Amino acid sequence: MPRDPRIVWITGAGTGIGRALALEYARRGEMVLAAGRTPGRLDDLRRSMADERLTCETAVCDVRDEASVRHVAEEVLNRHGRVDVLVNNAGVTYFRDFLDTTTEQFDHVVSTNLRGLFLTTRSVLPAMIRSGRGMVVNILSFAAKAVYTGSSAYAASKAGAETMMNVVRAEVREKGIHIVNVYPGAVRTPIWHPKHQQRYGERMLAPEVVANAVCDLTMQPDSVMIEELILRPQMGDLQV
Ligand code: NAP
Repeated sequence: MPRDPRIVWITGAGTGIGRALALEYARRGEMVLAAGRTPGRLDDLRRSMADERLTCETAVCDVRDEASVRHVAEEVLNRHGRVDVLVNNAGVTYFRDFLDTTTEQFDHVVSTNLRGLFLTTRSVLPAMIRSGRGMVVNILSFAAKAVYTGSSAYAASKAGAETMMNVVRAEVREKGIHIVNVYPGAVRTPIWHPKHQQRYGERMLAPEVVANAVCDLTMQPDSVMIEELILRPQMGDLQV
């Protein structure tokens, strides 16, 4: 018997890995809520979905804004009664050495990549706990595990999110909740300057590859907890 589509909320779904995830989950028959700050990008995603006879719901949401996150969570829970999978994908970086990083840039990176995960996860976790199941997938970065110069604020935000989510996992695993940390190496997306995409693009992972792997790992039986996924380009890291 066909199962009900799962309700999958993806943050930062207008471009890059989030967009690829939205398309892949929709192809697999899930109900995607694609969220992001820029309506035009979400419209473009919807058009791409329509070309494949797929649909998704969209929501304008800034993960740094508590009211915006709460509003989206309430809407999706009212409409569908649950969120099965939250993919914390929205993220930003500045490729700057530590001494060239401004306070505003530091705050922007940390409020998006760390505080944003706190807000989105907290907005759906109580409903997941009530239903006894649910999954939170965090698109972190291999920068949380390795040392990349020019990425101190970014690496700190991702390592902070990793530690926070490891604690959350320990707190909620007995309630049936899965917390998965994903650590991609370089992926060919707009987070990279076009010049770097052009020069190193061949060596980078395609966003579709990451999306496929994430979708696969969220299709495992409830009895399995995949805690971490590391995905790196075959040819190794990039130092741009
Ligand atoms: P991307 O194309 O720039 O995607 C990031 C998305 O996040 C954008 O669609 C952006 O859209 C959204 N976003 C940014 N700030 C936001 C906010 N405050 N609220 C909501 N959405 C926001 O880059 P990407 O590579 O796909 O990045 C996706 C995730 O993968 C990030 O967490 C990134 O750190 C991680 N990652 C990327 C790589 C890589 O090499 N590409 C490697 C490891 C990890 P709007 O500006 O329209 O909101």
